[in-house]
Amino acid sequence: MTQWSNWSGKITSSPRRIVQVATTEAIRAELILASQSDYVVRTLGTGHSHYRLIPTSGVILDTRPLSGLVSVDKREMTATFRGGTKIHACGRPLYDHGLALINQGDIDNQTIAGAIATGTHGTGTNLGSITSCVTALKIILVDGSEVECNASREPDLFQAARLSLGAIGIVTEVTVRVREAYRLEEKKTLTPLDDVMENIDYLTSNSRHFEYFWYPGHTEAICKATNETEKLPIYPIGEEGNRRGWNFEVLSNQRLTPHTEMEYAIPSHHGPSCIHALKDLIKQKHKDVKWPVEYRTVKADDLWISPARNRNTVTISIHQAVDKDEEKYYRDAEEIFRSFEGRPHWGKVHYLSGNDLEGDYDRWQDWWEIRDLVDPKQVLVNEQLNALRPE
Ligand SMILES: Cc1cc2nc3c(=O)[nH]c(=O)nc-3n(C[C@H](O)[C@H](O)[C@H](O)COP(=O)(O)OP(=O)(O)OC[C@H]3O[C@@H](n4cnc5c(N)ncnc54)[C@H](O)[C@@H]3O)c2cc1C
Repeated sequence: MTQWSNWSGKITSSPRRIVQVATTEAIRAELILASQSDYVVRTLGTGHSHYRLIPTSGVILDTRPLSGLVSVDKREMTATFRGGTKIHACGRPLYDHGLALINQGDIDNQTIAGAIATGTHGTGTNLGSITSCVTALKIILVDGSEVECNASREPDLFQAARLSLGAIGIVTEVTVRVREAYRLEEKKTLTPLDDVMENIDYLTSNSRHFEYFWYPGHTEAICKATNETEKLPIYPIGEEGNRRGWNFEVLSNQRLTPHTEMEYAIPSHHGPSCIHALKDLIKQKHKDVKWPVEYRTVKADDLWISPARNRNTVTISIHQAVDKDEEKYYRDAEEIFRSFEGRPHWGKVHYLSGNDLEGDYDRWQDWWEIRDLVDPKQVLVNEQLNALRPE
């Protein structure tokens, strides 16, 4: 039997097949076969999601072979990549054109289509998620048709497919806004958490990127402030927290120890109160937690089902080791996040239902309507996604 597991090994699946797809023809053939034979198809990036987005007894399409830079448009300041291109394979080719991604997340192993499908983001009060930078998509729909969409061409499909959870079609090309290449200098400091939270507005607005990790039981937080610089890179590139180089050399990190993660996006003004509540929870009920709490910022966007929809956001992530049962901790924390209007990261653990999400997103029903329109037979919906369907 074929076996699949995600990056952490916590999510497993036994699909009938995992198929590597390198061409649009191969994708089309798989979709048509699945429609005729009545099984589910889920599209895989690099399996870095902590939520059951991929598992199916049907077919998993592995899109990693569909990789590489297709074109750049310096007038529009956009670049187009094949969907399976890993984020770490975007930096150097863009740099060769004098260009760069506007921001990226904590790691760069995800595929670009996988990253945008869950709203992957980095940190920066003036910087939206990678998804918010998408200006056009090429998608293969379940009926085999290939559609190019953007804000004016097939606009509803575009809006639904930017943050798609892999449920709208197979994204073969992603066009994103880019900027001129830039260098960054990163500085790490150890600062008492209470001081960080007291000055959080100043800290987050005075650096292009600011984030911190706080380890339970410690009084200090590890802060990282990263800013543009004209200074030359220092090679070999330094350790995390002490690097100077091109954007793609500084922004990504190695996260090698498998773990699970829950992340909630909350309105930025709730950040400090939410951290205090979380800190109390850990102190009172979850003293055994050793993994850090991470605090980042994301600029408001207009994506239909983005956690940062219509509000400037802070994201607070909690983690747990894979050999520990995370559920009690995460459920308690989720209650706190929800009390601060938190919306879950689509690629991380949460326990919400479709009805909960309907209350969070004014376009949740619209997203499902467009989805069902292009995939009436529900070929792209696995059990987990079905559980999120509004009643
Ligand atoms: C160590 C680690 C660090 C992380 N850091 C961050 C971070 O800094 N910021 C953040 O926001 N998130 C972060 N994440 C979460 C991660 O970025 C997301 O879960 C992302 O979606 C994973 O991308 P992937 O390529 O692995 O996609 P997968 O997890 O394989 O798939 C994710 C979704 O994309 C869909 N998909 C994939 N390819 C296609 C395609 N071609 N067409 C249509 N749908 C497709 C899938 O069906 C699925 O719904 C991290 C995760 C880990 C494990």
